[in-house]
Amino acid sequence: MVSVPAEKLSESEVTEDQREQTDGFHLIIDALKLNGVETIYGVPGIPITDFGRMAQAEGLRVIAFRHEQHAGNAAAIAGYLTKSPGICLTVSAPGFLNGLTALANATTNCFPMILISGSSEREIVDLQQGDYEEMDQLAIAKPLCKAAFRVLHAEDIGIGVARAIRAAVSGRPGGVYLDLPAKLFGQVMDAEKGNQSLIKVIDPAPAQIPALESVERALELLKSAERPLIILGKGAAYAQADDAIRSLVEKTGIPFLPMSMAKGILPDTHPQCAGAARSLVLKESDVVMLIGARLNWLLSQGKGKPWGGKKQFIQVDIEPTEMDSNVEIAAPLVGDIGSCVSAMLEGLKSNSPAAPTDWINAVKTKKDTNIAKMAPRLMNDNFPMDFHGALGALRTVIKERPDAILVNEGANTLDLARGIIDMYNPRKRLDVGTWGVMGIGMGFAIAAAVETGKPVLAIEGDSAFGFSGMEIETICRYNLPVCVVIFNNSGIYRGTDVNEQSSDPAWTRFVTDSRYDKMMEAFGGVGVHATTPEELKQAVDTAMDSGKPTLVNAAINPAAGSESGRIGNLNPQSKLKKK
Ligand code: ADP
Ligand code: MG
Repeated sequence: MVSVPAEKLSESEVTEDQREQTDGFHLIIDALKLNGVETIYGVPGIPITDFGRMAQAEGLRVIAFRHEQHAGNAAAIAGYLTKSPGICLTVSAPGFLNGLTALANATTNCFPMILISGSSEREIVDLQQGDYEEMDQLAIAKPLCKAAFRVLHAEDIGIGVARAIRAAVSGRPGGVYLDLPAKLFGQVMDAEKGNQSLIKVIDPAPAQIPALESVERALELLKSAERPLIILGKGAAYAQADDAIRSLVEKTGIPFLPMSMAKGILPDTHPQCAGAARSLVLKESDVVMLIGARLNWLLSQGKGKPWGGKKQFIQVDIEPTEMDSNVEIAAPLVGDIGSCVSAMLEGLKSNSPAAPTDWINAVKTKKDTNIAKMAPRLMNDNFPMDFHGALGALRTVIKERPDAILVNEGANTLDLARGIIDMYNPRKRLDVGTWGVMGIGMGFAIAAAVETGKPVLAIEGDSAFGFSGMEIETICRYNLPVCVVIFNNSGIYRGTDVNEQSSDPAWTRFVTDSRYDKMMEAFGGVGVHATTPEELKQAVDTAMDSGKPTLVNAAINPAAGSESGRIGNLNPQSKLKKK
């Protein structure tokens, strides 16, 4: 318990018996520490500057960013990696709004985080009398997160923080907003009463045990399958039930397909991994078991051409209303993934459904063919470098350093890296997630380094990097073991587009042959310009061995790359444009 010594209070605040006092600042810090929070990600300013100082003084790690969106992304991915809500701290109105993108993205991705924003005075805001940074932040946050709370009195801080934590991590995890008006920070109360008002949340994310009946239904369906498939999503990675999931997959012998951030729960090189036969298994499977993956756009909503004929779905998810969101779920299995998978393993003891051999062979043949086709492209030494040559080098880096964390965003840089770079361990691949959002790069990389202490490799398209690039100063300031590789093809999708109308560049172009490596040098980090796969690999190896903040500018052929990467079909194109 932190308290303000009575002699530090103004005379009017000193009670007669000189009892110890505390205030809003200290109660918030105490409440967070009591609940195991160790790190706060944020940007200082009114009214939270002193709060950050005090938090540091009280032993919390405070990582200060250059823009709130990246602090928010850091908090979100910290939540994903640790199963405890990441904390993002911002100033009022504009800072709050900057953090909101990350809060909404966290909620969409089921990452637990708490956005704590200072706010202006309620009385003035509600009467719209023009306060400094006036904004009804609570109302604005509400539709964009799982829950939103405001604390007006120091004695309610304990409850406010407890509710925020429980809302973020219980059930389907998500973002929570906690509104703290400026006046709250300075409110003084009796220290002992303050201490008693704090709550250590007991069992914040209780196990949710599935009904026996639904486990049996799922196993029956699985047993009846001729061409079964398991799809692992990032909910499965989040659940940290790695051993149970691995046992289930291996016991059943069923081919599995990892969604992007689920790569590595089982290694991509596992004999049952169907990643290289994705089209085939989606189309040909008859029973599909989803574990912590939603049938959203990333899986073509579970219907249409990529899915071929009729399927029956088993869905394992903590959120009951996720079922039937796109297609009928024949066997819904509602509960936390650890409990559900363990219950299935228990049920399999007596009767293991072995996946049919012809199906396994068909998947294997397709997979081997595709891998063999890709191999020479990854070894290419084209000059200028293309995506495949560069990614072939980085693929080897991760193979040799399976414990490193890979952050990845871009268009072509994302789509190709996802397919090419094998992952070997769970929760090592962090990327653009459910929205395919650009701008997560440096925030994710920073939190990954801070939370795990492992080396981080961020593979960034030159466009994607631009959204969070200024945070390389943060990386250098905290001396984090982050190596950023920019796939620099001088533009969005490509660097060869032309505007025929004026001397302005095409709006998808950047300055040709930019030297992003020099940005890193400006902050004392290591900058390297790499023009061949060999130079690239050497630079990344050196960075990862040394742990020094490094940025490698990988010069990619400007003509390499396709419009919108692999999702060009989502980008409407006019048929009339060339008159
Ligand atoms: P991906 O993008 O990898 O397919 P999604 O984000 O679409 O993954 O799906 C993740 C799913 O996992 C969500 O529906 C979420 O409710 C679920 N989920 C998250 N954590 C758990 C958990 N501990 N137990 C069960 N389901 C979970
Ligand atoms: Mg580019």
